[in-house]
Amino acid sequence: MTRPLVHIDGRTVHKTLLLSADVIVVGSGPAGATVAARLAAEAVRVLVLEEGHSHPPETFVESGVQAMSALYRDLGTSIALGDNPMPYLQGRAVGGTSVINGAICWEFPDEVYRAWADADPGLGDALPFESLRAAEEALSVRLHITGTDPAIAGRKAEIMAAGADRLGLTHRPIRRNVVGCRGAGRCLQGCPHGAKLSMDRSLLPDAVRDGARIVAGVRVTGILTDGKGAYGVVGVSAGGARVEARASRGVVLAASAIQTPVLLRKSGIHHGPVGDGLSGHPGVSVTGRFKDPVNNHLGATQGHEITGLRHEGLKLETLGFDRSILGSRIPGLGRELARRIAEMDHYAVQGAALRAEGRGSVRPGFAGPRVRFPLLVQDVQKARRAVRRLGEVLLAAGAEEVYPGVAGFDPVVRDPKRMAEIETDGTLDPKAYPMSVTHLFGTAKMGSDPSTSVVGTDFRHHAVPGLWVADSSVFPTNLGVNPQLPIMAMATLCAAAITAG
Ligand SMILES: Cc1cc2nc3c(=O)[nH]c(=O)nc-3n(C[C@H](O)[C@H](O)[C@H](O)COP(=O)(O)OP(=O)(O)OC[C@H]3O[C@@H](n4cnc5c(N)ncnc54)[C@H](O)[C@@H]3O)c2cc1C
Ligand code: SF4
Repeated sequence: MTRPLVHIDGRTVHKTLLLSADVIVVGSGPAGATVAARLAAEAVRVLVLEEGHSHPPETFVESGVQAMSALYRDLGTSIALGDNPMPYLQGRAVGGTSVINGAICWEFPDEVYRAWADADPGLGDALPFESLRAAEEALSVRLHITGTDPAIAGRKAEIMAAGADRLGLTHRPIRRNVVGCRGAGRCLQGCPHGAKLSMDRSLLPDAVRDGARIVAGVRVTGILTDGKGAYGVVGVSAGGARVEARASRGVVLAASAIQTPVLLRKSGIHHGPVGDGLSGHPGVSVTGRFKDPVNNHLGATQGHEITGLRHEGLKLETLGFDRSILGSRIPGLGRELARRIAEMDHYAVQGAALRAEGRGSVRPGFAGPRVRFPLLVQDVQKARRAVRRLGEVLLAAGAEEVYPGVAGFDPVVRDPKRMAEIETDGTLDPKAYPMSVTHLFGTAKMGSDPSTSVVGTDFRHHAVPGLWVADSSVFPTNLGVNPQLPIMAMATLCAAAITAG
């Protein structure tokens, strides 16, 4: 008989709950799910504690706004402060952000790995590239990672491909972790068909099958330590009760690059640059209007990408939103706005993820994490260039007009020459470029030198025995590509380090 995914639902816990396991994993996103599945497969008794709840596919709604309130942390309103305050988006659910992500899977870029190993040869020795690749290959099989079938990619993918061809830019169907995808375009609201193999539909059921227990609706508030190291965690259930979980072998933090450093600092564990070095991929988007219907909300949410600008730190992707969010991207007032809204099905949206060089910080705050993510001037230049290239691709594909969405620049552009002029006429004020961040890294950095890093190259905390960090907090830099597969590959090596030690 298949076991239920969730062992205990914190909403039903109203009295103190005491739990125990060999290893406690905090967080059930790609990092936590991978560690849980790998350890359970080795007969380690694993307990996963997750703040969010379990959401089966039939409960997912089409409205982006409603999905945000059910599945996103802070209803999707978390803000990173800096010269350009920008939202950072995270899921809060059994399965973590994988429940609401675009299902894009990229391998660990070898040039990023080489840079890490050059900067810290000990890291290269401890984490051979072949081990990362082997982990990715196994995950690719389990998660059915394949290129998007053009039959379900939607018109927006054809538009991107046509524009890229005309401009001579390399492009391809996006590789995604889906099976039986119908191109319903709702990945960011949770796949209603269960086609996306998010963690709640893949590695977490594997872990449970092998004996792991998942307790949902429990927010971990502190790590328990004594003179010998970490021996458990405390938290609070959604039903308002104290939860205490003890671990005989240790605690693994997989709560994300925002929540993990907060948990460390709140637990009085301040060793190393914890909470510093936040890096990420801010995203910009441009909308284009076409003569014929595009139906941007249909087809794979993110099914096609332009890879030919990665050397500039730019990755361009199709971007499906539900109409309530698409509507907010359209410029104009009064009748002009009404006319454009009536033509909503004629719009195509493309986004670009920027490999930002700015570094920020995360600290515990009164009402949640205090996140700062200031951009450098070269990041704003990248944003400006991305807007130019996105606009050019749309115009090259036949858009009648595009909406760059940059304050102080033309709200509507019809001529590719004018689009190119944004690189000279567009402001370098970061506030002019609406951005949001969805890929976050670097706040509990891994390294051989305990004085400049938080965890060692075996993912163990330098100062607290029995404590590991498995999520992208440990990445020394950002990647320039969508991170979930590299996060899972690294978490596989984290699990191997735990079983080895
Ligand atoms: C809208 C969106 C689209 C994206 N699309 C893609 C994509 O297509 N491809 C890709 O590669 N990446 C994508 N990403 C990024 C990717 O999903 C994340 O990088 C990845 O999920 C991070 O994995 P993680 O396990 O570190 O953290 P998460 O997936 O964020 O999981 C962390 C979990 O820990 C839980 N948690 C946090 N604090 C606590 C606590 N104190 N107690 C208990 N539980 C806690 C959280 O509730 C959460 O469920 C996207 C992100 C967003 C927001
Ligand atoms: S595009 Fe639609 S059907 Fe395909 S995985 Fe995403 S939500 Fe599911």
